[in-house]
Amino acid sequence: MNIETDKDNSALKPGQYRLVNTKPLPVFSSGISKETRAFVLDRNGFTCQMCGAVAGEPHPSDPSRKTRLHLGHIIDLSHGGTDDAQNLRALCSVCNEGAQNITLPRPKATQLLTQIRRAAGDEQVEVLKWLVRKYPKQAQSLTENSAD
Ligand SMILES: [Zn+2]
Repeated sequence: MNIETDKDNSALKPGQYRLVNTKPLPVFSSGISKETRAFVLDRNGFTCQMCGAVAGEPHPSDPSRKTRLHLGHIIDLSHGGTDDAQNLRALCSVCNEGAQNITLPRPKATQLLTQIRRAAGDEQVEVLKWLVRKYPKQAQSLTENSAD
């Protein structure tokens, strides 16, 4: 069954509930228990872990929209992630909608270097430029050391 609370529907007051339908929830969401959901939202401080939007407050990127939090998988189920609390994080609906492609596991340096070594020289220089912009201090100290 799907029951909305004031957390789901801004038209409802605390303590009011609305029965949306009596169908069982789809399999993909029933893997996460209510307890796990509450635990993860509480651990994340009811704050979107990508943009910092707070549940129930106007969304930073669209103040007309009230922030609703969902649980997102850190490692996607299709990549071997689980429904365990440690693989879940609070995401607002705005970030959740755009998060499909950024829930991939983070690549390790060895994987990245494998990719970069195979790239053309000008592509490698693009990566270098981006890294130098991102880490100017580290880039400076590296070039200073190699000049000795
Ligand atoms: Zn967000």
